[in-house]
Amino acid sequence: LAGARDLVDDLVGDRAAEWDRTGLIPDEVLRTLSARGLLCAGVPEASGGLGASSAANGEFTAFVGSRCSSLRSVMTSQGMAAWTIQRLGSAQQHAEYLPKLAGGQLAAVAFSEPEAGSDLSAMTTTIERDDDTVIVRGQKVWTTAAHYADLIVVVGRYGSGAAAVVVPASAPGVTVTQVARPSGCRAAGHANVTLDEVRLPATAVLGGGQPLMLLVTTALAYGRISVAWGCVGILRACLDAARGHARTRTQFGKRLADHQLVARHLATLLTSEQIATRVCEHASRCWDDGSPEMVVATVLAKQVSAVQAAQGAATAVQVLGSAAAHEGHVVERAYRDAKLMELIEGSTEICQLILADHAVSMPA
Ligand code: FAD
Repeated sequence: LAGARDLVDDLVGDRAAEWDRTGLIPDEVLRTLSARGLLCAGVPEASGGLGASSAANGEFTAFVGSRCSSLRSVMTSQGMAAWTIQRLGSAQQHAEYLPKLAGGQLAAVAFSEPEAGSDLSAMTTTIERDDDTVIVRGQKVWTTAAHYADLIVVVGRYGSGAAAVVVPASAPGVTVTQVARPSGCRAAGHANVTLDEVRLPATAVLGGGQPLMLLVTTALAYGRISVAWGCVGILRACLDAARGHARTRTQFGKRLADHQLVARHLATLLTSEQIATRVCEHASRCWDDGSPEMVVATVLAKQVSAVQAAQGAATAVQVLGSAAAHEGHVVERAYRDAKLMELIEGSTEICQLILADHAVSMPA
């Protein structure tokens, strides 16, 4: 990942607020990062990727998240698409798709439907086999990055189980409609995707026949660890802004940082950033070691980091006062973006249910 941070700084510069306002990241920015393999840096070198460890990719994800949560969201989707292909696809499908995702194309992953949010077992999208083709029918909502994507990995019912299918956004029957003015991550290209009798070669089907929730858990694992690291980035941006402001702004004859109640906010923010960093480092170690703890460590990292980021961003707003009350300010964006992190990839409540199940089933 050498030089990656400089490239992101060059590409993002001070434009994140403008992208937030217009709801769009320029295509050239996304294509440049994709072509360098940086949107899914964990793709193995043998498949044309950078082969980054989870720890290195995580720190890079946090860096991008500290600059622009919309861009980080696009990165999460691209990485989740690549991970799903890696985990479910055949060697032939790895060779077909992974070099594209590490070489300039853009991808999204679609699980959610109007009646299947937290409860993905209610999914009704179908992938039906017809000789050497499949027909995909369904309605997906809130698919991050779908507005930009060349390929959409769609999860649906397949026979008595489930499968994912790689759908070109340009295929006949695919309609992608951008979600208007979302409250946060506004430039992440969230879109609703209608799949109306979309006919594709059967070779586009990844896996096939797995239990739906097993497939969903596999794909979501990457999304969760990526969002968790993104929340570390949000916290770092908030901490930087809050301490910078508290060091330089004077009220009642002394720096804000020298008022104990403000100093406590800074201590709380630093604590949040450290807690989130440590749980993410632990989860990434589990990924890099292939530890059986990986799934639970990832849910824990996502739950803890999202809650810390939402609280930390609110704390940073408090420290900045009216300085953060301008639309597009880094802390104002963080406040809106962080809240959404508590809803996605398994909301805080759904993560808590998974962690509670784990706690109950642990040996005495
Ligand atoms: P609901 O499921 O209706 O839940 C509403 C509230 O009830 C939540 O607080 C939830 O925690 C709580 N709740 C629900 N069930 C329970 C329960 N059993 N116990 C306790 N509490 C419960 N989807 C994709 O497929 N791909 C994407 O890329 C994607 N990106 C997204 C990006 C953003 C910014 C947003 C907002 C959504 C995105 N989604 C995406 C959809 C997202 O995954 C869902 O919004 C999420 O799963 C929650 O579903 P829901 O919004 O329908 O809320």
